[in-house]
Amino acid sequence: MTANLKTLLKQVFGYSNFRPLQLEIMQSTLQGRDTVAILPTGAGKSLCYQLPALMRDGLTVVVSPLIALMKDQVDQLHAAGVAATFLNSSLDGPTFQNRIHAIGTGQFKLLYVAPERLMMTDFLDRLAQWQVQSLVVDEAHCISEWGHDFRPEYRKLSQLRTLLPNVPMLALTATATPQVQADIASQLKLQDPALYLSSFNRPNLSYRVIAKEKPARQVWECAAARPEESGIVYCQSRKSAESMAEMLLDAGIPTVAYHAGMDAEERTKNQEAFIRDKARIVCATVAFGMGINKPNVRYVIHADLPKNVEGYYQQTGRAGRDGLPAECILLYSRGDIVKQQRFLEEITDSQARQVARKQLDQMSIYAEEINCRRASLLQYFGEQWPHENCGSCDNCLEPVETWDATIEAQKLLSCIYRIGQKGSFSVGWAHIADILAGAKTEKIQRWDHSSLSTYGIGKEKKRKEWVDLGRRLTSLGLTEASQDQFQTVSLTEKGLAILRQRIPVTLTRRKQEPEKLTTAVVGRIAKSGDILCDEGLFNELRLLRKNLADERNVPAYVVFSDVTLRHIARTYPCSSSEFLAVPGVGERKLAEYGETFVAAVETWLSTNSPQAFPDLKSVTTAPRQSRIPGDLSSTVLESLKCYRSGKSIDEIATHRNLSPSTIENHLSQAIESGEELSPDDFYTPQEAMRMHAAFQVIDSPGLTQAFESLAGEISYGKLRLFRAFKTLATKKS
Ligand code: ADP
Ligand code: ZN
Repeated sequence: MTANLKTLLKQVFGYSNFRPLQLEIMQSTLQGRDTVAILPTGAGKSLCYQLPALMRDGLTVVVSPLIALMKDQVDQLHAAGVAATFLNSSLDGPTFQNRIHAIGTGQFKLLYVAPERLMMTDFLDRLAQWQVQSLVVDEAHCISEWGHDFRPEYRKLSQLRTLLPNVPMLALTATATPQVQADIASQLKLQDPALYLSSFNRPNLSYRVIAKEKPARQVWECAAARPEESGIVYCQSRKSAESMAEMLLDAGIPTVAYHAGMDAEERTKNQEAFIRDKARIVCATVAFGMGINKPNVRYVIHADLPKNVEGYYQQTGRAGRDGLPAECILLYSRGDIVKQQRFLEEITDSQARQVARKQLDQMSIYAEEINCRRASLLQYFGEQWPHENCGSCDNCLEPVETWDATIEAQKLLSCIYRIGQKGSFSVGWAHIADILAGAKTEKIQRWDHSSLSTYGIGKEKKRKEWVDLGRRLTSLGLTEASQDQFQTVSLTEKGLAILRQRIPVTLTRRKQEPEKLTTAVVGRIAKSGDILCDEGLFNELRLLRKNLADERNVPAYVVFSDVTLRHIARTYPCSSSEFLAVPGVGERKLAEYGETFVAAVETWLSTNSPQAFPDLKSVTTAPRQSRIPGDLSSTVLESLKCYRSGKSIDEIATHRNLSPSTIENHLSQAIESGEELSPDDFYTPQEAMRMHAAFQVIDSPGLTQAFESLAGEISYGKLRLFRAFKTLATKKS
């Protein structure tokens, strides 16, 4: 079976290697087992059912929530020569009937269908007659109320189990929360499902938080610094999404807006423009994005603070699906937290309010993190990042240090206080900095501010430094800036208390000043997954691809992904066999595009000499921390070796100079991967019973809930180990 799958992988999809877990998932579903696959965006979930569909005689039915997406997916499959089709409300009557007929005669391997269509009675009758051999539920988290995209019509899918009791189901999602994962299996009535859960790390994404000052300008700087790239800008409100889009348009950057307040037609039009590279940027609310499989989104900017980490992860996850480097940038100011706290107060249901508050707290922890942001993000999903430095977040690249800012803070705060005493209130940071620096401006003279006791006491710093420092105090909640255009500054109660009681103020700063945003973001972030190539040729190929795509009325990536183009632009294939060796080129695409692209390469080489590039560090198998057999990382294996030699967790930790919780995490991974470890080494039978009960009660494998329900009496480490044994047992049974 494996050999066949591998042959088909190259023949049809043009790839030589499976990504982590793909093969295991395919084997599981082909063995007829219900399977849940939880892999992050870009990990290659689609292939997990598309390839098995080709191995089966009958039909694979894929439930997919997004009508707009189905056509693209089917186009992509057609481009690879796969007999696929879709049914949804966008089809007119006769087309619909024709397709139904064709499906009945077994002409298709794959059928995409929207859940509401699927659950209509006449459709269910047909389904029972067709030779359905596999049911796939894509975006399976839509079934869970705990998820971020609950769709009531997904709930009815549980009927499928009754209708087609012997057809294996495969549920796919990128949603990381344990609650949702548990919900999927129970709602779909899966029978003893095999669970494949991969790391949620996205190695090719880099993370950066930038102090939000003038968001529109900052967004424009980012966009202008990446002239050919596609990006998504998430805004809090419909209004700000629109004004941001307008601003970028004015600046000459093709941009569209997207939010739920627009009518369906306009939304589709704008989404389409973005997918087809007619608009480079989409400025959107969170309504945008689910199921957008545009692979070459190179950056996601959040102009406002997202409501929770889960959402942030999902939204940033839309960048870099193709595995090439992409950036996630959050513009953050403490003011956003204050604003959201105000919204929170308006939530009437007290439990919902509490949840929202906790989520906001977690989001601010991420935003104010001074250690690795990747580690912080993964930690939120209960995953431990095993490395000290991720090499691609701002804090790892430009570490921060703390410094005692008490004297500076006192100067600033007392200056505001004195200005207030003098009866003038409408001043901003620029004016305050002028006073501290002892400047002689017209305003200072008019208001007689040179007579203040704080006049000229801050000559040791530049005005800009005082302004920056002032903004930091606002972000700490010591001062407030009015929301209007004047941004006049006043003391908060907290600020007043700090001033009166001389409470120390500690601030953080970069050990080295980062370069200006544009250069910092363009040049500094390390690029995992990068494919060096002849950029001149790449641009030519991009144009060629666009023409071919437009002729066929499909998005560019249906022709070839950027990854494929970059490979062409570094290997200069000049024959069919060389072209077929390019990742993403299968037999069908060779036949359709081979000649055209080889000709383009030859034309290029007639006037340019080829460049040489260093070998790639295995692009097809992106480094991923996987939790399944044979895939344990070397650091896990090292811990396992120590365990086997009879050491306790603490001893291993000391020996390896790692924290005990890291070791616990390593051993948990080893357990889940099927390595034999003994529970007795980690907890007592009594503790095991209590943990068993805790997980039973909360009906979800979430550690936090279990930890809380045990009143914190059993450590996270033990819970994690216990859960690992449990997961293994589920997998085995
Ligand atoms: P997901 O649904 O998990 O977000 P996709 O199915 O859209 O991911 O796949 C992301 C990208 O990875 C696609 O461009 C796809 O062609 C590519 N891909 C999938 N499997 C492989 C593989 N084994 N080797 C190389 N590229 C792959
Ligand atoms: Zn980092």
